[in-house]
Amino acid sequence: MTIVADSSRREELLCRRLEALRARVAETEVRAGRPPGSVTIVAVSKTQPPESVRTAFACGQRVFGENYVQEGVAKVEALSDLPLEWHFIGPIQSNKTRAIAEHFAWVHSVDRLKVAERLATQRPAALGPLQVLLQVNVSGEASKSGVAPAEVPALAQAVAALPGLRLRGLMCIPEPTSDEAVLRARFRMLRRCLEELRAQGLELDVLSMGMSGDFTLAIEEGATHVRLGTAIFGERKKP
Ligand SMILES: *Cc1c(COP(=O)(O)O)cnc(C)c1O
Repeated sequence: MTIVADSSRREELLCRRLEALRARVAETEVRAGRPPGSVTIVAVSKTQPPESVRTAFACGQRVFGENYVQEGVAKVEALSDLPLEWHFIGPIQSNKTRAIAEHFAWVHSVDRLKVAERLATQRPAALGPLQVLLQVNVSGEASKSGVAPAEVPALAQAVAALPGLRLRGLMCIPEPTSDEAVLRARFRMLRRCLEELRAQGLELDVLSMGMSGDFTLAIEEGATHVRLGTAIFGERKKP
């Protein structure tokens, strides 16, 4: 009995958190003059058991993000009975691209051509194109992952030409800071990169930026996808 009570309490808590987040996203859209529904919440379920994903699904969440290939693939397979949209958002080693190409609908973290080429060849045709974002290093020296802003146009043109992939936009992870001015500057840089690509004729519509601590700022600066882990599932246990 206690187990049932605990799990239904957990479900209620998760649903309440999700509802509160949807309301904050909606409020921020209005305040920022963004169309209602223009921001998608990607629920970052890394380190969470499949049961937590089921619970979030029961509360209406459909889009989930994973960081680690092995853990992500296991969850995608364990939950294949549900109509979920899976996004890969973690660092990509080139020997792991096949698992990503075969199990995910989106990848946010492409930062080099070699990885994009492998994903393109390995994407099963039956799944339709893999939706791709380029991860941009908007923090300079303070961060190592992501393509440098100056190199974005060349990489974007090359990736856009690959079969099996559909380039949709850009993603960033600013350096950890609580300085709102710095975060805004990073988000603006990503937006400017996207605008530059559009001016070059690429049809891109996605900016993946903002996490639990800064998603309202990111929405104000143009985010279309916010990646929320802690705000939905609570603090992650350290491995
Ligand atoms: C873990 C992670 C998130 C979610 O972070 P929270 O602060 O828990 O919301 C978002 N994006 C990426 C790339 C992550 O690794």
